[in-house]
Amino acid sequence: MNSLINQAQKYYPAIKALRHAIHEEPELGFEEFKTAEKVKTFLDSIGVEYVDGVAKTGLIVTIKGKFPGKTILLRADMDALAMDEDPQHALKSKIKGKMHACGHDGHTAGLCLAAALLHENKALLHGEVRLMFQPAEETLGGAQPMIEAGVTQGVDMAFGAHLWGSLEENHVQVKVGAMMAAPDAFKLVVKGKGGHGAMPHMCIDPIVIASSIVVNAQSIVSRSVNPLDQAVLTFGQINGGSAFNVIPNEVTLIGTIRTFSQAVRDLIPTKLEALAKGIAHAHGGDVEFTYEPKYPVLINDEEAVHHSAQSFKKIVGESNVHYLEEPNMGGEDFAYISQVVPSSFIYVGIKKDQDIIHHHPSFEWDDHNLIPLGCGLAQCALDALTE
Ligand SMILES: [Zn+2]
Ligand SMILES: [Zn+2]
Repeated sequence: MNSLINQAQKYYPAIKALRHAIHEEPELGFEEFKTAEKVKTFLDSIGVEYVDGVAKTGLIVTIKGKFPGKTILLRADMDALAMDEDPQHALKSKIKGKMHACGHDGHTAGLCLAAALLHENKALLHGEVRLMFQPAEETLGGAQPMIEAGVTQGVDMAFGAHLWGSLEENHVQVKVGAMMAAPDAFKLVVKGKGGHGAMPHMCIDPIVIASSIVVNAQSIVSRSVNPLDQAVLTFGQINGGSAFNVIPNEVTLIGTIRTFSQAVRDLIPTKLEALAKGIAHAHGGDVEFTYEPKYPVLINDEEAVHHSAQSFKKIVGESNVHYLEEPNMGGEDFAYISQVVPSSFIYVGIKKDQDIIHHHPSFEWDDHNLIPLGCGLAQCALDALTE
């Protein structure tokens, strides 16, 4: 048996209990105070040093080796989602309207396991391991203020992992290059002139204008983007109107644009704004357009990816590490780290019979997956600092 997996057995009951405690008391982005307290209690129990209160609730653990050398960064995210959990679950949230439906409870507990393993093996290390427990991955980009606080300073290579519902247990996926999209947001406020539903000739109907914008925007990806580039434009929300016989003054459209190249990322909002304004003006109305760039594209470094693949093979077996060919359209704020440090982001499988859907009330996975996640990340650091 791999020696880290062997050593992990004695920490497993505490790591599992930690995951359960975090799962039962989920906290949203930048509010992970109790989660951080639970992590600190575990870190104190194994005797590692840390700095707390980084970017509000974040923690940075430093494990210094006996010899000088490189610095390796390992990362976990701690936040939950604003949604209710399926009440059928044995292990479930005790906080109404909050749930760990993405697996970040597992990332946090798994990184605690990695901390314990690396602390135990620190006499072997040439250099140091920095472990970051970050706030607010889901929408607020908590990795960014941690980078501003210096978490990536002097780091040679970084690794992060995500439990992955469409990948079988004990399997791992890595990918060279672009792995996850830039998940940007936009808002269009269509301004017309309201009035009586029976007298449309005296109004400028923003519902008709908005409908036309939604239909015509579908041609941006199909007609303006190079077919060899990937992009998505989705309207997620339409709001407007108050009664069956009233034409409203305005309608709001909200949506997301997902891209992998900067050129396409620049192109789509420009096209969308021009198209929406053109349609609105033709009807005598107007449009207020706001575009909110969110996380960058998550781009993995080739050398870091090969390194992580070799390390994870020692944990899950030679044939269970797979190189992904295609990226996916999801977003992930580990992208901020991959922009400044050569990085690899790793998917760790949790699927049993059928796909487990993230961000769904019935999202659920087995505790034993904490072992490949925690041991795999620890192995990445160990291999980088002992070779
Ligand atoms: Zn998520
Ligand atoms: Zn996530």
